Amino acid sequence: MAGNRSKNHEKHQAKMMELFTDEYFMREALKEANKALEIGEVPVGAVVVCKNRIIARAHNQTEKLTDATAHAEMLATTAAANYLGSKYLSECTLFVTLEPCVMCAGALHWVQLQKLVFGASDLQRGYSLVQTPLLHPRTEVVKGVKAGEAKALIDTFFRNIRDKSS
Ligand SMILES: [Zn+2]
Repeated sequence: MAGNRSKNHEKHQAKMMELFTDEYFMREALKEANKALEIGEVPVGAVVVCKNRIIARAHNQTEKLTDATAHAEMLATTAAANYLGSKYLSECTLFVTLEPCVMCAGALHWVQLQKLVFGASDLQRGYSLVQTPLLHPRTEVVKGVKAGEAKALIDTFFRNIRDKSS
């Protein structure tokens, strides 16, 4: 009987692992990016995950807060640190729809992020354009998760702006 129970437990664990994939959490970050798009902000969204739980979510709010530094990653990491009562996020993963800029990568270094998962690459402002490693040396990086969807949102945003101004 005990054997049976532990087998069930294993099955349950395997199911949970299937559920909590990078794609799963990136979909949540994309929901945030969509919220940004709806209110006229550059559509970038982020969630912070700690032990398979979302502890913070944010989207770009540079217009709303009239703060050019109010990027999704900055808001999400600050909220996560507040939630944990810890300035370090060394057991957390940040999912963000667009490659972080140099400023955000610097912030992710300071919080000692465990893992960064991003969607689309940012060929203009992405941190990986800089030769010097900006992230914390222990931060694991996964890129390109749902990149197509993330980029489509950004393209829509800039197309809307062009349509309005023409
Ligand atoms: Zn940034």
